[in-house]
Amino acid sequence: MSLNGKTAVITGSNSGIGLGIAWEMAKAGADVVLNSFTDTEDDHALARQISAETGVSARYVKADMSKGAECRGLIEQAGACDILINNAGIQHVAPIDEFPVEKWDAIIAINLNSAFHTTAAALPLMRKAGWGRVVNIASAHGLTASPYKSAYVAAKHGIVGMTKAVALETAEAPITANAICPGYVLTPLVEAQIPDTMKEYNMGREDVIRDVMLARQPSKEFATVEQLGGTAVFLCSDAAAQITGTTISVDGGWTAL
Ligand code: NAD
Repeated sequence: MSLNGKTAVITGSNSGIGLGIAWEMAKAGADVVLNSFTDTEDDHALARQISAETGVSARYVKADMSKGAECRGLIEQAGACDILINNAGIQHVAPIDEFPVEKWDAIIAINLNSAFHTTAAALPLMRKAGWGRVVNIASAHGLTASPYKSAYVAAKHGIVGMTKAVALETAEAPITANAICPGYVLTPLVEAQIPDTMKEYNMGREDVIRDVMLARQPSKEFATVEQLGGTAVFLCSDAAAQITGTTISVDGGWTAL
């Protein structure tokens, strides 16, 4: 399918799922705007690499998704935003009665509030263009919970709810809003946890992945960033034009349990 002529803005896309989605969007022909809160040579080099390998226009815009004005500024600097992928996210794990207030505030700001600000800024551009796609990267934790992840679970349930409201507000425009709910995805962040978990449990790599990390994922396979990217591209296709206000799980059966 072709996303030629569309511009995709992907928050939190200098690594992991966001970067995977940026690659798949670019391979489908969309111009891409990468983002994170840093402004390094490597960040800009990623955009150059995507552009060189796919032929689309790609650039990197620094904006801190914990700050509302910068979220709105990202859309302004992008200039166009036909496809908005709200992906930036962080995690902190602690019992709720010991949960640091600043961690709670940061998770709600980056994982939930940022999507409010970017969506509010992007919808007028989509309406003007007469076409738009909002894709929110939620989580299996947008549909279920785990202990010690209260802020993350609250933010992810929140973004699933917001997705439905945005879909209803845009239902008569050719604009859709959906949430992708990944289970465990093999990102560099997750890969980096494997050696420590092997030591902690005194287990080999395959056993740690299967019995510890993927204990709740029935397929016993990580989802990949390419699969997440492919799902996002599908939601931008004509076949998905009547899919709005819903969630798509990419979780190896986690939420079927
Ligand atoms: P990651 O750490 O590789 O990526 C997170 C991205 O967000 C990075 O690009 C980071 O720079 C960016 N980011 C963090 N704080 C930011 C800020 N203040 N402003 C702008 N950008 C910021 O992690 P990931 O696994 O790729 O996660 C991406 C999204 O997918 C998150 O929303 C996460 O909750 C969700 N998710 C991940 C998994 C998984 O297993 N990896 C599962 C379900 C959902």
